[in-house]
Amino acid sequence: MKVRERPSLAGLNTFGVTARAGLLLEIENEEDVLQIPRLDPSRDLVLGGGSNVLFVGDVPGTVLLNRIGGISILEENAEQALVEVGAGESWHGLVSWSVGAGLSGLENLALIPGLTGAAPIQNIGAYGVELSSVLDSVTAWDTQRANWSVLNGAQCGFSYRDSVFKSAHPGRYFITSICIRLSKQFIPRLQYAGLVESLHQAGVSQPGPRDVYDAVVALRRRKLPDPAVQGNAGSFFKNPVLSRQQFETLLSRFPALPSWILAEDSVKISAAWMIEQCKLKGHRINGAEVSTLHALVLVNRGQARGADVWKLAQHVQNAVHDRFGITLEPKPLIYGQAPN
Ligand code: FAD
Ligand code: NAP
Repeated sequence: MKVRERPSLAGLNTFGVTARAGLLLEIENEEDVLQIPRLDPSRDLVLGGGSNVLFVGDVPGTVLLNRIGGISILEENAEQALVEVGAGESWHGLVSWSVGAGLSGLENLALIPGLTGAAPIQNIGAYGVELSSVLDSVTAWDTQRANWSVLNGAQCGFSYRDSVFKSAHPGRYFITSICIRLSKQFIPRLQYAGLVESLHQAGVSQPGPRDVYDAVVALRRRKLPDPAVQGNAGSFFKNPVLSRQQFETLLSRFPALPSWILAEDSVKISAAWMIEQCKLKGHRINGAEVSTLHALVLVNRGQARGADVWKLAQHVQNAVHDRFGITLEPKPLIYGQAPN
């Protein structure tokens, strides 16, 4: 296990904001896992690629960096394969590997930054597919009970950008690997108009997994600011999910509000549209800006502190609340207290 004292976290979060931890432990294998101390979620933090976290202050305790690798096929038959993936594997690397291996199910999730161990935390999703659709089990070290746990899909409590790891037991589990079921028979999932359009533009009428993968990669490169160029954590806010009645009331005031029916009594509405209506694209607080490319993304234009990004996020929340009566919920983990 590698150990560093008082490390800078600036290079370990895709917002690129400065912060420090008391101690940093790099967990590389199961032996290292057995030495993980009991974690206090108010002082300690598990970190993957840092692409879904905003450091508003320092981490007073320990940061555990997950670096456990490995991709292996555990079982396979003519239809599918059960694949075990170390939590420290790059997520996009895994998606690329799966497409190369002729296994489908992940192609809509190409180019999501970060590591595989973080994928269950918010049940990552894009273009109509979520991790939950392929997940078989999650193996984790329970840092409170000091034992191994294997959780199946139902026990993970997945919902829209949420899971038990995020909501019911934040900071309790150190995920070491996941098992996913990938298919040898490709069923394209093309509900998103943008994806269909992108395939159409590429002249593809009967897409295979590689075509969908390429289309998603091209779309994302075009539509999202690259964190290597402008620090960001992807969409900063969730799309709010309303009851049918709340939705009808809002729609009567804002007939152009984009929406998607999720279930009989739940309707998802567009956070990006509400932010745009508030004319906040390009709005800045110090070095933090609402991206001019994508209203849901907050970017670091260079010298922003975590506190600046958080101030901007709160400004967006207040503006949307004043106009629409809706409270936008952040997606990333907001860590620490802003200095006064
Ligand atoms: P981190 O940011 O390091 O951690 C995120 C959370 O997971 C923290 O709470 C952390 O404590 C916890 N965690 C991390 N690893 C472990 C572990 N091994 N065990 C236990 N807890 C752990 N997300 C989507 O869902 N869909 C998208 O389409 C998408 N697009 C994005 C685009 C961009 C440009 C960016 C910057 C981000 C995007 N995200 C998206 C958000 C982010 O990439 C994902 O949530 C990703 O899964 C985070 O992985 P990470 O390794 O960087 O996690
Ligand atoms: P898009 O395709 O332009 O769509 C804009 C929004 O509309 C998205 O938020 C998406 O919701 C919703 N949407 C579009 N078509 C839908 C459908 N058929 N059914 C249900 N919802 C629909 O989106 P984008 O902003 O370029 O992003 C594309 C995909 O990548 C989305 O799935 C988005 O979530 C994902 N993404 C996520 C992050 C992140 O940080 N979490 C960052 C960038 C992109 P959903 O967001 O609920 O899918």
